[in-house]
Amino acid sequence: MFLGTCGQQYFNEILRSGIKTKISAGGDFMNKLHFTFGPVQSFVSQARRTIDLFSGSFLLSYLAAAAIKAIQDAGGKIVFPEVEKDPLMQAIKGEEKGFVEVGSLPNRFEAKIPQEKTEDIARRASRALEDAWNNLAGEVKRLLDKEASELINNEFGKIWDRQIKNFWEVNWVIGDQPRLLDIRKNIRNFPQQEEPGEKCNQCGERQALCNKDKADKKETRRYWNKFAKKINENHALTFRLDGAERLCAVCAVKRLIAVVRPYPWKVPEHYPSVSTMATLTWKDVVINKSQEHKDVLKEVEKYVQAMEEAKLPFSDSIKAFPHWKELAERDKSRVIEKFLRLDGEWLFKESFVKSEFPGKKDDLTIAKSKKVAADFVKTMKEKWQIEKPSAFFALLVMDGDRMGKLISDFTRDSAKISQALADFSIEEVPGIIQEYHGKLIYAGGDDVLALLPVDKALYCAKIIAKAYKDAFEKRTPPEIKKRATISAGIIYAHHKTPLGILLKDGHDLLDNVAKEETGRNAFALRVWKRNGPILTYSRKWKEINCLEQFQKVFKDYPNRFLYKFRDMPFLNELLGGNDDLQSILTAALLKSREAKLERIKAEELALKFYRVISSCGEQKKLDLDGPLFIRFINQEVPYANNIGTS
Ligand SMILES: [Zn+2]
Repeated sequence: MFLGTCGQQYFNEILRSGIKTKISAGGDFMNKLHFTFGPVQSFVSQARRTIDLFSGSFLLSYLAAAAIKAIQDAGGKIVFPEVEKDPLMQAIKGEEKGFVEVGSLPNRFEAKIPQEKTEDIARRASRALEDAWNNLAGEVKRLLDKEASELINNEFGKIWDRQIKNFWEVNWVIGDQPRLLDIRKNIRNFPQQEEPGEKCNQCGERQALCNKDKADKKETRRYWNKFAKKINENHALTFRLDGAERLCAVCAVKRLIAVVRPYPWKVPEHYPSVSTMATLTWKDVVINKSQEHKDVLKEVEKYVQAMEEAKLPFSDSIKAFPHWKELAERDKSRVIEKFLRLDGEWLFKESFVKSEFPGKKDDLTIAKSKKVAADFVKTMKEKWQIEKPSAFFALLVMDGDRMGKLISDFTRDSAKISQALADFSIEEVPGIIQEYHGKLIYAGGDDVLALLPVDKALYCAKIIAKAYKDAFEKRTPPEIKKRATISAGIIYAHHKTPLGILLKDGHDLLDNVAKEETGRNAFALRVWKRNGPILTYSRKWKEINCLEQFQKVFKDYPNRFLYKFRDMPFLNELLGGNDDLQSILTAALLKSREAKLERIKAEELALKFYRVISSCGEQKKLDLDGPLFIRFINQEVPYANNIGTS
């Protein structure tokens, strides 16, 4: 086996003396190349806006595509994943010049390569990846040079080059054992770059861009105050103003690549904010109502006019949701179109603060538009029974259970497995996410990452889990398909919670709760209020219907009562004795000042409570986070059709 890395002629002498694995392919000897690059998790999760998340995963796929193309051009064949159907791969090869919606290639792949060329091809792939990255970063730098030339000097250039060059660590090994790659990755070659001065406030790792080396916070802030204003002149809303955002070169590339879009094919021009995602279902309900009642449309119009007068920006959000495009086209007055193009955050009073207001900044305008927005929400509630819009959105993270093990146990069938995964991620997932009004961030192989409205996220995940099974059902033999399951982590978060933290927690929820604790083939839900997580609920997919039972039973329970009960440690021990638990529940219900129940009602509730809790779940434990989750959904989106399980 051979171990290589990009940028250096580095070989581990001991490992080098190992024997290369030979694979006979039609008489020629082929070597197997395992290729990977990173950092991946931090590159994607260091995000302040949804566009950063999207760009991060799209760039990773783009760089993978560049390396894959170099291997194919030099006579190599990609054996994992299946790339022939991949839209980004087709676009990069010039076979398709259409629209690439989302990143879909992983940062790790395997190829078969003619024996005599293996090392050469591996190096070429590394170089192609580096070149692709440098070219993209170069396009962004050109934009900055053009738009903010007076703010860019030598020092700026030095910081830029230091951070962009050698950002990626590329690793490859030649041999039959993919685990060699993990060994290789642990042999680090690059010393960590020294990063002086004020750090980027997106990643916290690298120095924020500035025209001075070792600039402190004050200097950096002053610099970004001017820099952001300059860039925003021609590219509205790219950066937050007043020096509130101070990015390094890598984070700036992620933000600005969405402005530059230097590809010969189309990519999404707009990525909806989490506030827009949170308020999506509410807007749908209001628009539905406005089609029956002209008075509702008038209220919408009043709101839209006030926001327009305050010079709030209209985004391209209708392009992000096909059903919004239809709604907008149906209304000739264009009121609905404008309503949908306003960011969801302009339905919340707390958004109308001077420092972050992107419209007309005088106190009177801000106060006036704030009042109109508040009155609009109030009128919808009082006159039209549409409760206030939810401030929560859902982040969905899914991946296949024990995928690495499945592939290594069935190496001979790896082509069939890749076929199934390609069917799943390319043909099934994007359509399902769209149907549930979500926005896909990444779908490739067995991985899915998406944003969704809270009322639809769980059911959407359930449909995706079924699509995963179906894809394996069609393509693979029985011993594989019975092991092909997928798990999901769903974070329900307040729209002001930092995205990077949520993404990390989403992966933690998926790996440690849905997979480790619940045993895979499972979902895990977690609700984050502004101050942090308040509940976590996880079950196998087959027990998802429990939530519907909770829905029926627990609607009469006072909220605080459920929380109080959840935190009583001795209740689980009592669950074995039916009578005890029931009488304790009855007593607690009677005591609850919030509930104000008569004895007979309390007894009835206690019985129902006991029955549903003990019939739901194999673990027979009193888990009130399920009922609490249902309460949360009902309170957040009472105007939605269902709770998101069916
Ligand atoms: Zn950064």
